[in-house]
Amino acid sequence: MRLRLPWRHLALCGVAPGRRATSSVPAGVQSFVPASSTIDAHALERLQAFFSRATRLFVITGAGLSTESGIPDYRSDGQWEKQGKVHWLVTQNVDALHSKAGHQGLTELHGCAHRVLCLGCGAMSAREELQKRFAGLNPGVPPCKDCGGILKQDVTFFGDTVNRGTVQFVHERLVESDAVLVAGSSLQVYSGYRFLLAAADQKIPVAILNIGPTSADHLTEFRVSARCGEVLSVIQPH
Ligand SMILES: [Zn+2]
Repeated sequence: MRLRLPWRHLALCGVAPGRRATSSVPAGVQSFVPASSTIDAHALERLQAFFSRATRLFVITGAGLSTESGIPDYRSDGQWEKQGKVHWLVTQNVDALHSKAGHQGLTELHGCAHRVLCLGCGAMSAREELQKRFAGLNPGVPPCKDCGGILKQDVTFFGDTVNRGTVQFVHERLVESDAVLVAGSSLQVYSGYRFLLAAADQKIPVAILNIGPTSADHLTEFRVSARCGEVLSVIQPH
C-alpha cells in the first residue's frame, strides 16, 4: 500500500509563527488552529489500515474539525458517505459544517445554531424564518406560531443534557458499526465521551485523530496527533 503524502502541508506543521506567510492556508484560519507535531508515515499507515478494515465507520467530530475547515484539500465527509464507508456521523459542533457538506446520516448532538426549537410543542424551524418574523415585530423573540410557546436556539449548552431519545438513537447506530473514528475532539464533554465508553464495552476498535490528548486516549488503539484536514485528505476511503 502506498500513501500519497502531502509533504507541502506536513512541512508546515512545526513552522514558526513568523513564517506563516508562506502557508497555503487562508489567512485567519491557521491563527486559531493549534500547531500539531509532524505526522509520521507510520501513524498514517496505521490509520490507513484502520480505515481499510472498517466497513461501517462511526465518526464523531468536534471543534477541531470546524476551526480548520478552510484547508483547501480537505476531503468533505459528504464524499466519504457516498463511498459507503461512513455508517453514521455524530458531531458536537453546532455550525452545520456537515449538513452543508451534504451529509445525510448525521446526528448534531448539541443541536444547530441555524435552527430554533419551541419549548412548548417541540417544533423546529430555521433561524432565518424567525428573523423574517422578527423584522415586523416589537423588540423581543416572537412566540411559536403553532402553539404560542417560547422559542430558543436549538443548541445544547454546557450543563444542558442531550435529549434521551437522541442519545438512544446514536447508541443504536454505534452498535451497528464496526469501527469508531474521533476527528477533532478532545471528548471533554460527557455527551460525546459516553459513546467511546460504549464502544470500549462492545470491543469496537477506536482511532483518534486530534491535536493534543483526549479523555478517551486510554480506550483507543491509537491516536494520531495532527490536523484532520491534513490526514483525511491522504487517507483512501476504500
Ligand atoms: Zn410550539
